Amino acid sequence: MAKLTVRDLDLKGKKVLIRVDFNVPMKDGVITDDNRIQAALPTINHVIDNGGRAILFSHLGRVKTLEDKATNSLKPVCKRLEELLGKKVLFIPETRGKALEDAVEGLKDGELLMFENTRFEDLDGNKESKNNPELGAYWASLGDVFINDAFGTAHRAHASNVGIAKNISKTAAGFLLEKEIKFIGEAVNNPKRPFIAVLGGAKVSDKISVIDNLLNIADKVIIGGGMAYTFLKSQGYEIGNSLVELDKLDLAKELLEKGKGKIMLPVDFAFTKEFKDEKPTHYGPITAIKEGEMSLDIGPKTVELYTKELSKAKTIVWNGPMGVFEFENYAKGTKGILEALAKNKDAITIIGGGDSASAAINFGYEDKFTHISTGGGASLEYLEGKALPGVECVSNK
Ligand code: AMP
Repeated sequence: MAKLTVRDLDLKGKKVLIRVDFNVPMKDGVITDDNRIQAALPTINHVIDNGGRAILFSHLGRVKTLEDKATNSLKPVCKRLEELLGKKVLFIPETRGKALEDAVEGLKDGELLMFENTRFEDLDGNKESKNNPELGAYWASLGDVFINDAFGTAHRAHASNVGIAKNISKTAAGFLLEKEIKFIGEAVNNPKRPFIAVLGGAKVSDKISVIDNLLNIADKVIIGGGMAYTFLKSQGYEIGNSLVELDKLDLAKELLEKGKGKIMLPVDFAFTKEFKDEKPTHYGPITAIKEGEMSLDIGPKTVELYTKELSKAKTIVWNGPMGVFEFENYAKGTKGILEALAKNKDAITIIGGGDSASAAINFGYEDKFTHISTGGGASLEYLEGKALPGVECVSNK
């Protein structure tokens, strides 16, 4: 890999700025899922084990009002991190100023501190989110080297990633970011073939650029989820009350034309009258849809067809559920595809972030894939073939 990683840095005695992604879900001040904190531990441990002085920071939620500020402090996150590390992490309830600067100067080798939510700076003219040059330079001045390990925000140029990188001698990728670059980057730039992309989710409009880019590089693009009905309707099929984007019919037609022979559409469906978690009234091809019905999932024949296709792949990227997986009765298609991916032990299997990642984890497939991405929006933009500012800003080797 051409990018500098945390392994390449001389850390002993250095003040090491580490941008982590601690944007964890919280309810009433309590962390409901600490996966992201756990995922950052390898990078943090590497830094302190090698004598670095760790200065940790992250965003948490959106901070537009004083009320947001009151509910989005990183203090509980710092406490949880201390428990997981079994080590003191000094918390500085500021994003700048003397208290922070003194604390940084007081750090000894192998010690850690964390400062407050970087988005507190958004209260004053969106300084973090708009990559205010003074803020990036200020944060950079606190450290000797910078490690970016936050893939979730890598598609955004913020002060806490790009802004710091611009003002410091060396920026390296942490272990998490390195993994994202390795697996998603390689799938997009140099995939082992056959390369099959599986795309689902609610809307075609959200994924136009992804489909378009993947049609250029993948050998097959398998479609499921709500977006399938816009494709079917564009071919003249009656789709009843199924999800559709009528203003995207021409575009769907164009994509089908461009992807001739590459795009696979579902061949059977789970039909129902209402958007409810009740058993489907029947399964069948789209032509079997009855008046007032909609489809909320792909059917068993489609799962079989897609499974067969996926068994031949050497690289698989999956983004977006095949149906309304939140309803038990309509999760079969999504589970079927997860199973197909898990079964193909010869393939590099990559799950895009967001809903696909949570489906994979919640349905018990967490350890069955090569890589589950930690960033929804970022992994989509990576698959679109876009350069991600948070990856670009990492120094080359
Ligand atoms: P996305 O955020 O674009 O990945 O879309 C995920 C959402 O698409 C999930 O909440 C699913 O319930 C929804 N979805 C998938 N298939 C269908 C469908 N056939 N009809 C309605 N919604 C669907």
